[in-house]
Amino acid sequence: MKNLKTCQSCGLPVESATSKHTQTIYCNHCYENGKFKSPNLTANEMKKMVKERMQKMGVAKAFVDNFTDGIDKLERWNKNKTNVF
Ligand SMILES: [Zn+2]
Repeated sequence: MKNLKTCQSCGLPVESATSKHTQTIYCNHCYENGKFKSPNLTANEMKKMVKERMQKMGVAKAFVDNFTDGIDKLERWNKNKTNVF
């Protein structure tokens, strides 16, 4: 899995990087023409969207839950948090 790039917004694998200007990589579901498609989206809303998308794809619920828990750790959502370490 290490060779796979994951979108730093939704956590899904990115087939082609959307942007060369940013260090972060977002898929074209999340990011287009230099900006987020839903700039006001929260991490929780993103989780819901990804959950629905994966469930439609027939992914097992346990895996979906596990996967969406990781969304909090992606760069897009981490920037808005203060680090508590
Ligand atoms: Zn994405």
